[in-house]
Amino acid sequence: MNMPNDQSIQQPPSDSNLNLPTASPCASALGAIVQEFLPNLTTYSEFYRQVHRNPELSSLEAETAALVARHLLALDFKVHTQIGGHGVVGILKNGPGKTILTRAELDALPIREQTDLAYKSSKTMTDRYGNERPVMHACGHDMNMAALLAASALLHAARERWSGTLITLFQPDEEETGGARAMLNDGLYSKIPVPDVLLAQHVIPLAPPGKAAVQPGPVLVAADAINVRVTGGPCKGSLNPQICVDSIQLSTQILTHLPAYVRDTIASGEDATVACWGFHAGIPGIDYPAHADFLLDVKTRKEDVRQAALKLIEKKIRDECRAANAPKEPEFKYSVRAPLTSNDKDTTERVQAAFEAFFGAGAVPVPRNSACEDFPLLAGERDVPYTYWFFGGCQAAEGGEVPTNHSPFFAPEIETALKAGTEAMALAVLAFVGK
Ligand SMILES: [Zn+2]
Repeated sequence: MNMPNDQSIQQPPSDSNLNLPTASPCASALGAIVQEFLPNLTTYSEFYRQVHRNPELSSLEAETAALVARHLLALDFKVHTQIGGHGVVGILKNGPGKTILTRAELDALPIREQTDLAYKSSKTMTDRYGNERPVMHACGHDMNMAALLAASALLHAARERWSGTLITLFQPDEEETGGARAMLNDGLYSKIPVPDVLLAQHVIPLAPPGKAAVQPGPVLVAADAINVRVTGGPCKGSLNPQICVDSIQLSTQILTHLPAYVRDTIASGEDATVACWGFHAGIPGIDYPAHADFLLDVKTRKEDVRQAALKLIEKKIRDECRAANAPKEPEFKYSVRAPLTSNDKDTTERVQAAFEAFFGAGAVPVPRNSACEDFPLLAGERDVPYTYWFFGGCQAAEGGEVPTNHSPFFAPEIETALKAGTEAMALAVLAFVGK
């Protein structure tokens, strides 16, 4: 295994930094607490292996939730279960001060694992739609959970050194981006204190192994879903209606042109992407279908670009239908799959300072990516400020490629990733509650 060679992780901070004012705890003093109270990570690497071997699909995370709850109870957290499905929340009240909510995800993906790890998953399960599926923690939520539990243990052990309330939230159904909303709809903030700050992190190969990457502003894309119905049928006065406006042909023509049109029409550098995620038309052998339905996935990195892209897509589809003489205007149903994840400036600069003091040069900006998240929804109507960051722990496989999240080969290096995720989460919490 290839461990990072950065002395800044090992450097003990100077003692003179240990008793600074509560308002803005010195970043290197926070690092000292993390180093002093870092738990033995064996328990949490075991947790990781156990959950990796036994992953559960979105909304079906019963065993994972029960295991997480047991760990939190063992740490004397007050535990709520079954919020918005299998959501679990642990609360550690530790005197006056800020309330910090930290979040990890419970669910795995319908992917057949292709690693040859001793703890690989060979599991299948029936998904919520009734289909038998392979299951794998191919996004690393098992690592995010292990790191949050280890950070909780660290903060519990170090409770004399900080003051405030720590909330650890384990969210179900992140992959289909329904879990955060489900927890809110289930009255999350009537059951637990409303936080002052939200924190979340994700293991990702794009971040340097053993380090954390954070920055203010947009870090994950917004994802919109558009359900489109294109109607075909006879032209006026036609005696041969089937072949006048073919809804399938018209839809495939639209889908062929749309991605390049959106890419080329949006100003360069402000990328917006559109992809077709589903297509349905007709029943084989019955008749020419009157309409074709397709699902578009639109990803953007800025709110004004998002608005422009959605308008542009609708206009382009309307224009193509009119040009083809379609007998009816196309229909559109919009839904937000995931909002833009855009880190609050002040909150994030505080986290960033703690990371830079601890991880040194490894605390790098967030790499550009096209992932999305429902985490910002937990800010609720109160608009609680949040910071979301990445931590690294993935090494290149044979051939030099690093399998990325959602790959059947995805395999973080447990010790490297777990240590970085534990340290980063504990540091970020302490940045707001440290004495
Ligand atoms: Zn994920």
